[in-house]
Amino acid sequence: MDLVVKRPKGTQDVVPSEVYKWHTVEKIVKDAAELFGFKEIRIPTFEDTGLFVRSVGDTTDVVQKEMYSVTAKGDAQFTLRPEGTAGAIRAMIENGVLNEGFPQKVYYVISCFRHEKPQSGRLREFHQFGCELVGTASPAADAQLIALAKNVIDTAGLKNIELHINSIGCPECRAKYHAALKEYFADRKQQLCDTCLDRLERNPMRILDCKSPICSELSKNAPIILDYLCDDCKEHFEKLKATLGDMGIEYKIDPRIVRGLDYYTRTVFEFITTDIGAQGTVCGGGRYDGLIETLSGQSVPALGFGMGLERLILTMEKQGCEFMKPDTCDIYIATLDDEAAAEAVKISAELRKSGIKAEYDIVGRGLKAQMKYANKIGAKFSMVLGSNELEQHEVDLKNMSDGSTKRITLGEGFCESFIDILCNYLLNIEGIM
Ligand code: ATP
Ligand code: MG
Repeated sequence: MDLVVKRPKGTQDVVPSEVYKWHTVEKIVKDAAELFGFKEIRIPTFEDTGLFVRSVGDTTDVVQKEMYSVTAKGDAQFTLRPEGTAGAIRAMIENGVLNEGFPQKVYYVISCFRHEKPQSGRLREFHQFGCELVGTASPAADAQLIALAKNVIDTAGLKNIELHINSIGCPECRAKYHAALKEYFADRKQQLCDTCLDRLERNPMRILDCKSPICSELSKNAPIILDYLCDDCKEHFEKLKATLGDMGIEYKIDPRIVRGLDYYTRTVFEFITTDIGAQGTVCGGGRYDGLIETLSGQSVPALGFGMGLERLILTMEKQGCEFMKPDTCDIYIATLDDEAAAEAVKISAELRKSGIKAEYDIVGRGLKAQMKYANKIGAKFSMVLGSNELEQHEVDLKNMSDGSTKRITLGEGFCESFIDILCNYLLNIEGIM
């Protein structure tokens, strides 16, 4: 079939035959969050543009190039959320959640929107699992958050994922570092891209995150932040490393990680794989001790991460990880005539009351086509109802996986008999219950 209008570039549909992959990762991330005591928060899809400009930062790629913004009636400026932290923190402040004591731990699974060049693992609408941990400056919190992300990665069955960590210090150490970077890039000014020329003046650390090959090459020999950390930031980083060690979580120190958003302080981290090409950062996060003050005037330390669900699924597919099996039909009731069809409706209604997935013909097809359909939808059992079966009050129940049949009585007690047989099947054939 030809379509008049197709989906926008950089967006994805998830068709029913693929959706089990999403159900798998959504379950994994929610279970992990709950396991670590995080509660779900739900936030709007769009926010006042000012929220992202203030929090994500106006020297970042996201704000400079990637936001989908509209001017609504009366000049109000709105932006489709490019990430979740700003909205989640705004919502926590606005709803008084931060007056309820610390720490506050929230998570969300949301769509995000960025105007980027679409490619594998880089979309214009993508999905993030995000966690925010608010009200603690302790490195124990950084370690707990990293352990949560690692739990997701392990439960998903991913291998070959490296945890890279860095500290980008506090505003105090960063001032000295910025000065060193300015000096370094001043000699190489002519080669920087236009965006980075602007960054050189306003926020030179952003140059290290530039995706242009020339800027990345120039950044390779730039001074590293770890040489400029103040004593407090150094101690925080040392404690984090020690705690990760105690937890048995392996990491690499990667002074090149500065993270894409402006609000980060001290700890930054990424989980990176080389298995899905260039867009290999599956999860990125860190501490943002200054953000809440920027938004509310009150200083509260916090940290969080965002995990890209498309990249998580891509990596799972590449590595052959297991997804939860899609749930299929328990019983398909084929029918030979109108009387049997009416009976199938009644039997199915009874079965569904007990949570049994029962299906019957609603298209008006012949027996052969009905059985073909039963196979296609992966029905575990089937039976054929006709006048004989209705007269004798008995029917052959067919196990679709091995073709074996069992005669059972119709009418009262049918549901119970079927549930017994189904439970046995699940125990013996699929080994689950
Ligand atoms: P990148 O360097 O790949 O552009 P980023 O630093 O912009 O990533 P974050 O803002 O930290 O990404 O977002 C957290 C996570 O969300 C990323 O690690 C990635 O898994 C995912 N992500 C970010 N942008 C996209 C996108 N356009 N398409 C798909 N996933 C994305
Ligand atoms: Mg990006």
